[in-house]
Amino acid sequence: MEFGGIPQEVTADGQLLEDLAEVARDAALLHGLLMRTRDAPNSSEVVGHAPFALFPSPVPKSLFLQALAAQPLFNRLVDRISRDPEFLENVLASTIKVDDFTARLFSIYRHVLQEGPKQSIVLGLNRSDYMVDQDRDGGMSLKQIEINTIAASFGGLTSQMPDVHRYVMAFVITLFQNAKKILDNNPAAGLAKGLAKAWELYGSERAVVMFLVEEIQRNIYDHRYIENELWKRNIPVIRRRFEEVFKTGSLDQEKRLFVGGKEVAIVYFRNGYMPQNYTEQSWEVRLMMERSLAIKCPDIGTHLAGTKKVQQELARPGVLESFFPNEPDAVDQIRATFAGQYTLDMGEEGDRTVAMALAEPDVFVLKPQREGGGNNIYGSEICQVLEAVKGGSERTAYILMDKIRPRPSHNYLLRPGEPLRLNACLSELGAFGAYVRHGKDMVMNECVGHLLRTKSVEYSDGGVAAGVAVLDNPLLV
Ligand code: ADP
Ligand code: MG
Repeated sequence: MEFGGIPQEVTADGQLLEDLAEVARDAALLHGLLMRTRDAPNSSEVVGHAPFALFPSPVPKSLFLQALAAQPLFNRLVDRISRDPEFLENVLASTIKVDDFTARLFSIYRHVLQEGPKQSIVLGLNRSDYMVDQDRDGGMSLKQIEINTIAASFGGLTSQMPDVHRYVMAFVITLFQNAKKILDNNPAAGLAKGLAKAWELYGSERAVVMFLVEEIQRNIYDHRYIENELWKRNIPVIRRRFEEVFKTGSLDQEKRLFVGGKEVAIVYFRNGYMPQNYTEQSWEVRLMMERSLAIKCPDIGTHLAGTKKVQQELARPGVLESFFPNEPDAVDQIRATFAGQYTLDMGEEGDRTVAMALAEPDVFVLKPQREGGGNNIYGSEICQVLEAVKGGSERTAYILMDKIRPRPSHNYLLRPGEPLRLNACLSELGAFGAYVRHGKDMVMNECVGHLLRTKSVEYSDGGVAAGVAVLDNPLLV
């Protein structure tokens, strides 16, 4: 019997497994798969390895290629949505009445729109996430979970994963051949390429790329890989928190953004995607940055284009067509990845969604307008929440989505301090997108790599940062 590609000689041999895990942890450290510790999250004096899977996990080759091929289309779609105020206004109208966070973002969007955007260079770095759905007959299809248009992470660390698994597999004779099947993957370089392109277009040698970072920076090495690619090109980088920008940031008469005396060419958000990231001061800072001449990655419209409400609206008949009026193939390619999604807006359609969810909660996921993992609602809790909000407009803070059911495979998840255990696991595949638009011209539009995150089936939600998923590599089957 095989466990998703792991030979029985390995699963049955406790000593071999212990040895392999040790080799793997060393490989992770050697190759720089690093994360700061929970105890000292802002110090690099003592670091550990990021959580990762001992073996690569199987992913059907055709679906993997489908995800990569769709990415440039998703880039264009996000870009078009970000430039369509009427669409965003209509779609988010019900959400912003009940969801304060989205409402605050939206008010910044309106403000910038009224003032007239200063910058015609747009840089998008995003990640579209998928799971492989298995239907009752065993048929498999690629289904999008969400698209992250702000602070999409792990492009740096995952660039180190191929070497870690190649190293581990070289230690097991029967896996040796498979080591060659681990794909190259370097989103760090691709994301940096997007940043570099936008920086060049900004056109000032002394202007810096500013990473807007969190208070707690356990995942700093993920950023550092991208940062390093920029330094290699002689592009200066600074890292600042909201508070620091509040204290030392300002706009000049041309609305150029200066922070601590340095002109900022690009604000690269690695923070600012959830309400907890903001104080009143940070909101002021966000508005100042959005009004500025600096290139925002993402700008506020692109941030809003990544909301779950927009995702649900895109699944409605005719909406994709309106963004790609003469490109039926593009529409088909994007739509093929959509799972069923349903509105909870007030009215008959929303009422039907409520009834459907209450009748069969186990086949759906209820999603609020949040990012960062751990916010979705599943199973009987869907009934509790919907019973409480179904009669009023609070329900419009959520959307309902078909639950995707991937086939589990087995793996060992390595986290510092945790024992080795064979787990039934589910994987989520991400495709990294990078694009740069200058006025009307798309001057770069690429898929720049992939991410595979794997978690034990016990968890319905949560990513790597939340301590649930681990980094992995796809083994194409
Ligand atoms: P977040 O912005 O918090 O990352 P996601 O939409 O990515 O929100 O959901 C978080 C996690 O919940 C995903 O990583 C996935 O594991 C699970 N999930 C989300 N949507 C679905 C779905 N439709 N079917 C199955 N699992 C889902
Ligand atoms: Mg997610």
